Amino acid sequence: MFSPSNLLCQKLLMRNSTRNFSFKQLKDVKSIIIRNFAWFNRHTAKENFGTKLKRRLRNLLIVTIVGCGTYYGYRTHRDYKWFKDMTDSDNSIGTKPRVVILGTGWGAVPFLKHIDSDKYEVVCVSPRNYFLMTPLLPSVSVGTVETRTVIESIRSLVGPKVKYVEAQCVNVNPKEKIITCNSDGTDVVSRGDDVKAIYVPSKREGGASSRIIKDSARTRPQFDMKYDVLIVAIGSENNTFNIPGVEEHAHFLKEILDARRIRSAISDAFESAMTPSQTPEERKRLLHFVVVGGGPTGVEFAAE
Ligand SMILES: Cc1cc2nc3c(=O)[nH]c(=O)nc-3n(C[C@H](O)[C@H](O)[C@H](O)COP(=O)(O)OP(=O)(O)OC[C@H]3O[C@@H](n4cnc5c(N)ncnc54)[C@H](O)[C@@H]3O)c2cc1C
Repeated sequence: MFSPSNLLCQKLLMRNSTRNFSFKQLKDVKSIIIRNFAWFNRHTAKENFGTKLKRRLRNLLIVTIVGCGTYYGYRTHRDYKWFKDMTDSDNSIGTKPRVVILGTGWGAVPFLKHIDSDKYEVVCVSPRNYFLMTPLLPSVSVGTVETRTVIESIRSLVGPKVKYVEAQCVNVNPKEKIITCNSDGTDVVSRGDDVKAIYVPSKREGGASSRIIKDSARTRPQFDMKYDVLIVAIGSENNTFNIPGVEEHAHFLKEILDARRIRSAISDAFESAMTPSQTPEERKRLLHFVVVGGGPTGVEFAAE
């Protein structure tokens, strides 16, 4: 019986009749081939269970390393291609019609999930890089549900075929079909959960917690983007119906930060009420909550 390595060497020797390898060179090649094949096929009839297992494990390790390496290379290539497409696509439209969707809320996400991204180049622009499950916000505000469970990354929701850009649209030019995003490159993009908006007073002069942090990573240069079809799903603003004092003194419940603020305020109120020197009147005031608005959100919050 010939082993694969022997067969290969024989083929090489036969071919050598038409080539000019020296006999010594061929012998070297043969020994290299035999060594390498033997390394993979090093098993004999006498091989015991231990060595057989060892050989199989070694082969499995090699296959795993090669497989992981190939996959890693493919991922890197794909990400690079995606990034290149992304940067190229800001100003020029490719072969497919470009559909730009503004927003990552209830209106935008089902559309993004169902649009055929093979037919269209789909770009989503929104300052919020996650989808927010608004019906659960009242539960977040009282701590029944954790913040992390009511949000889902937009990229993981819509997949890699949809390009997402974290920015807010500030102008639409329907004549030329161009949108302008971000304001002037110095404004911070707000995704509704800005740390910058949480002001924590501190006695320490200039201490970290007393500053409003403006994170440079959140400032974006202004850019224009062409579109063929524009879908506007940017939701709405809270309406105070011009009731005096609501804008300045009340909490809204629309974004994740609103829920966190309410939770923090409730917790603070309870802790302050627990302070030993607190007067009964002040305790009563601290533990008195008023919900303005008897719609679904107000009722749900009150019930929670
Ligand atoms: C606490 C609460 C509970 C609710 N419960 C229910 C319920 O149980 N059932 C129900 O049917 N409805 C409920 N709603 C209402 C529901 O959430 C809204 O009707 C729905 O979110 C509206 O969807 P939308 O896509 O229009 O806007 P949104 O979901 O608000 O999404 C707007 C998106 O646009 C983005 N955006 C804003 N400005 C710009 C800009 N300039 N450029 C680009 N993007 C921008 C925002 O970041 C956001 O991603 C609830 C609402 C709240 C607040």
